[in-house]
Amino acid sequence: MTEKLIFLTPGPSELYFTVEDHLKIAFREHLLSISHRSAQFQEVVTHTTQELRKLMNIPDNFYIVFTASATEVWERIMENLVEKTSFHFINGTFSKRFYDTAIALDRKSTQITSELGQGFDLEKVTIPDEAEVIGLALNETSTGVAMPLEQITELRATYPEKLIAVDAVSAVPFPALDFNQIDTLFFSVQKCFGLPAGLGVWIFNERCVEKAQKLIQKQSIGFHHSIPSFIKQADKNQTPCTPNMLNIFLLGKVAEDMNRYGIENIRRDINYKSALLYHALENSSKFEIFVKNSNFQSKTVVVADVLSGDNSEFLSVCREKGLVVGTGYGSAKKSQIRIANFPAHSKETIEKLVDIIQNY
Ligand SMILES: *Cc1c(COP(=O)(O)O)cnc(C)c1O
Repeated sequence: MTEKLIFLTPGPSELYFTVEDHLKIAFREHLLSISHRSAQFQEVVTHTTQELRKLMNIPDNFYIVFTASATEVWERIMENLVEKTSFHFINGTFSKRFYDTAIALDRKSTQITSELGQGFDLEKVTIPDEAEVIGLALNETSTGVAMPLEQITELRATYPEKLIAVDAVSAVPFPALDFNQIDTLFFSVQKCFGLPAGLGVWIFNERCVEKAQKLIQKQSIGFHHSIPSFIKQADKNQTPCTPNMLNIFLLGKVAEDMNRYGIENIRRDINYKSALLYHALENSSKFEIFVKNSNFQSKTVVVADVLSGDNSEFLSVCREKGLVVGTGYGSAKKSQIRIANFPAHSKETIEKLVDIIQNY
């Protein structure tokens, strides 16, 4: 028998507790075999987008479309929304890859990079006039740095003509984000939504549609997954190609479950659990919280330095108790731990982990 394990890794992570039941329904309703052009599948798309709109408070003037991953959306944003240059806030590996994508696609993009584990002081940032898009990560999963929502509001007020593109992968649905402050947002489902990997969700407003329609007069904006192609299909609750139908279905079901539980309850739980985690780490002589300024501490991915030696002993103590905690990312793989605090992680699980930290 395989041991029972709970995954506190920041993606893929523990599945939301209803996923298994929904998988059985998907089998029973032949969702793995029906045509993606069928009325039955159109209903699935309709349901999923409606539940997401409700859960994340997405206004009607935003389209919701499905991609392979968040990584794909970095490319689609460059192709569809950036003629020459974008500007990027880099505070870890994922936000850097968004910028790297721009450079790889020959955009003359620029960036500001924070010290690892730190946020940005917007007073000290000047975004070039030419930048068409501002790219940022709401929650930088590699370092556990979150961007406060007030900073997004400030960017909107200072640069109203630029499009704001938000990588929200390990954040949503937790932050109470006002979509009127941004133009486009994207995420993958294997983090906070507690689903199997292999589906990206891209949300964009009319300003993005207009920009893509203007750009297509001048240069290639891609083909199958261009904004015009996406919206032509989205208007019929369809997709340009055969999508990850199973995951689109599961996303709708889990979003429905989350709506039933209530977004305010989800936020309250995440706040409570993150307070427990930060408190335990703060009071431990074995760890040091990586993000020092609490304004920038992520509530959904908690990162700490291991003070002596590497993380292997702690990770195996956790594993013996059935908890799989995340390693550090990249060069911090051995020297840090990363703890996912997603809706799928119960209070009991986090309390158990806090107990292990306190006794370690
Ligand atoms: C995981 C992650 C990505 C990449 O997601 P994929 O599903 O691998 O494309 C992008 N940005 C952030 C912030 C992430 O945490």
